[in-house]
Amino acid sequence: MKIGVSSCLLGNMCRYDGAHARDQFIVKTLQKYFEFVPYCPEKIIFSTPREAIRLVEIDNKINVITSNTKKDVTKELEDISIKCAKQIQDDELCGFILKSKSPTCGMERVKVYQETNTPSEKKGVGLFAKQIQERYPLLPLEEEGRLNDAWLRENFLMQIFAYKHIFEFLKTSPSFKDLVQFHTSYKYLIYAKSHAAYKKLGNIVANHDKKELEIVLEEYKLAFLESLSLKGSISNTYNVLLHIYGYFKKLISKDEKDEILESIDDFKEEIIPLIAVIKLLKLYAKRFDIQYLITQKFLNPYPKELALRSSVKAYK
Ligand code: SF4
Repeated sequence: MKIGVSSCLLGNMCRYDGAHARDQFIVKTLQKYFEFVPYCPEKIIFSTPREAIRLVEIDNKINVITSNTKKDVTKELEDISIKCAKQIQDDELCGFILKSKSPTCGMERVKVYQETNTPSEKKGVGLFAKQIQERYPLLPLEEEGRLNDAWLRENFLMQIFAYKHIFEFLKTSPSFKDLVQFHTSYKYLIYAKSHAAYKKLGNIVANHDKKELEIVLEEYKLAFLESLSLKGSISNTYNVLLHIYGYFKKLISKDEKDEILESIDDFKEEIIPLIAVIKLLKLYAKRFDIQYLITQKFLNPYPKELALRSSVKAYK
């Protein structure tokens, strides 16, 4: 599975000062699951080391200016950013991790300076990041800094794995029946993000207007990718857990019921992490061989070794 990464985050010494910005989580943890494709637009045109650049607001327009010689390099950086962004499609990436704060790679809150000596404002977007956002609005995209937040990290990685899954699924020339099966397996994963999104997907699959399979698949793909970009919440996830519990609540003893309900409540109160409840629910799903639950992606969205649901902070 390929993901794009701002090259300096991988430890490549391509920053303006010849340094790198190696990120431990990416290099140590994610490299076990992904093939990284490095991108550094600045190095391609300015080489390394080079003069630092910054975003400067001039006449309500954001320009890129070198910090000492005050040379305007907006056009060069824009052109290479467009070229690199186009490359993303050819590289068939499932996601992208950008370097925060960079006038090229930062996806939000990049410092924007004024020509006068007023303080900078964190309101800019790097030129390369902007190109990616505009061309691939449904591509999973995050910054390394934001991935320190357990909630954003879990959502992002879940999105990447599902993103890859739908493209693989579509390559198999699926039938309507296959689509129903795929859709069903994502029921609770999407529910944990938005009921409305799952309903919209359900309407596409129901195909009341008897559209051609190809059209339905395309509509489904777009709606599915949109729903993946939504973030899960504690309250939606809590409801999903209760739904799942509903499948076997009549099959278990009062003590067992109390134990499960207490765990679900503890998750809601952020006392225990989601993985603790999931473990319990999976146990009962297996014990009663409830295939509908066993095949739910919500219970197994990505390799468990990533341990993304092991923190109470992974849900908000
Ligand atoms: S932030 Fe982007 S442009 Fe700057 S060194 Fe890293 S990869 Fe290159």
